[in-house]
Amino acid sequence: NSAANYVGRVAPTPTGYMHLGHACTFLQAQRRAKDAGGKLLLRIEDLDQARCKSDFVDALEEDLAWAGLNWEGEVVKQSERLDWFREVLGRLRKAGVVYPCSCSRKDVAEAVRAPHVEGGELIYPGTCRQREDAFQSEADALAINWRFRVPDGETIWFVDGRMGEQSFVAGVDFGDFLVWRKDGFPSYELAVVADDVAQKVTEVVRGADLLMSTARQLLLYAALGEVAPAFYHCALILDTEGRRLAKRAGALGLREMRAAGVLPEELEGMGRR
Ligand code: GLU
Repeated sequence: NSAANYVGRVAPTPTGYMHLGHACTFLQAQRRAKDAGGKLLLRIEDLDQARCKSDFVDALEEDLAWAGLNWEGEVVKQSERLDWFREVLGRLRKAGVVYPCSCSRKDVAEAVRAPHVEGGELIYPGTCRQREDAFQSEADALAINWRFRVPDGETIWFVDGRMGEQSFVAGVDFGDFLVWRKDGFPSYELAVVADDVAQKVTEVVRGADLLMSTARQLLLYAALGEVAPAFYHCALILDTEGRRLAKRAGALGLREMRAAGVLPEELEGMGRR
């Protein structure tokens, strides 16, 4: 019975205080784990050393506990898992699906081949795609950007638990994406897949802003020969102008709501539309 083995997780990034949007997504993750008779893990995605502050980590655990989130086991911090991420990069290199890239963001913006749609993705023009560098040392190989070569024209299809059938075309909707940065850290896409694999997550519940990232991540699962989890993308909470909540969302920050006398059991209903 697979339901008994359900493993879910919530994976906040501590670059600010948690707001109503986080609470709603995480409480849905908790509900799905509970309904499946499974467990929920907490993983802190603190790889962006410049922006993730330990104050936010402390506040995050406190705010989420107040919101009624119960996670099981040790809290995993991605900043402590670099060895694992290096190993996963090694597997991708061995599989021949990634290549070293020295293009800057500006180079990419200037060389895009597709007409750029406002708000759309910049499709990597493929400048470094055929590179095969010989590295003097592992350290050298970790001090360069690595990109995943997407299968151009291939449709990545999946069924989202809430939003139904989804499809994205590699090379059209998104291009070759970074898996490793020259500062020695993995990209979000690599880290999230590496840890969902390591933690044996069976369903990923997260915001709908990451829908297209799921297509990229499915390519990583396939390249690694790992079974992908199921996906369930929650609606984002938008303000009256249709903007997403920022991490510092003033009146909708969990700290402020708590101070204003909002009860934690009221949170889930607030996110419902
Ligand atoms: N850490 C990501 C975020 O805060 C979420 C990652 C995920 O759930 O896959 O946006």
